[in-house]
Amino acid sequence: MAGTALRGRLTWQAARVASLIRETASVCTIGLEPRDWAGHRAGQHLDVRLTAEDGYRAERSYSIASAPGEQLAITVERLEDGEVSPYLTEELQVGDELELRGPIGGYFVWEPGENSPLTLLAGGSGIVPLRSILRDRLRTGSDVPARLLYSSRTLPDVIYRDELGQQHDGVQVSYTLTRDQPPGWTGHTGRINADLLAEAAWPAAADPVAYVCGPTSFVETAAAGLVGLGYPPGRVKTERFGATGGP
Ligand SMILES: Cc1cc2nc3c(=O)[nH]c(=O)nc-3n(C[C@H](O)[C@H](O)[C@H](O)COP(=O)(O)OP(=O)(O)OC[C@H]3O[C@@H](n4cnc5c(N)ncnc54)[C@H](O)[C@@H]3O)c2cc1C
Repeated sequence: MAGTALRGRLTWQAARVASLIRETASVCTIGLEPRDWAGHRAGQHLDVRLTAEDGYRAERSYSIASAPGEQLAITVERLEDGEVSPYLTEELQVGDELELRGPIGGYFVWEPGENSPLTLLAGGSGIVPLRSILRDRLRTGSDVPARLLYSSRTLPDVIYRDELGQQHDGVQVSYTLTRDQPPGWTGHTGRINADLLAEAAWPAAADPVAYVCGPTSFVETAAAGLVGLGYPPGRVKTERFGATGGP
């Protein structure tokens, strides 16, 4: 049985593009209808494969943006010099087909039964799997308290801004804007550092579990900062999206 399930997850399949939602100038959420999807857990990702007419193929990983039980969706940020993300964010049309496989990953996963306070740290598009976790928390009626610190370059770059702006019991959202702040900005400014983490994350004494996601440099700084605050390394789950860029 396990072999069959594993083979299912690792087999490429076609998925219809069911919806496209523009989140920011450079970010798009793609709703997907795979032919055969056994469901996923919050925090997992999938792989997308594109094949050019000459047979050239490119594969990339994308975190799943939707909660378990919702229509499958990914949220992709366009990188100007990227190979795959400009196509996914600019050229893809509703009704097109993509190849995908998944769900993938068993480590950066949150289960609704868990009762540790959640410290969620996102850099740029690293918000995507954390959004799935927050939606799963809401859908399942979990009362686990959550604190999200989201680092973006500017306010217009904040993904899911309306959704995150809605009040949900037990969820505190704070932002830091690293490049530019609008007039009257009352949130944090600049890149994350020890002082900001001490203010925005649950204290280690609360026995929280942390999920940290974003560009590699963001994840490394944030995870080291949490360990510096006394988080046991095993309580800091990290997902690196790669690359050097940072919010
Ligand atoms: C587990 C996992 C989950 C991911 N989830 C998401 C997601 O939810 N949304 C999303 O938009 N991306 C996500 N990514 C990143 C994604 O897989 C691609 O790396 C990204 O879309 C760039 O692909 P590309 O072909 O456009 O760029 P490439 O042609 O691969 O790269 C172009 C240039 O951009 C740089 N670069 C590559 N990746 C990044 C990055 N993430 N940030 C900044 N610069 C980069 C490269 O060094 C290169 O200079 C995830 C990656 C992993 C490993």
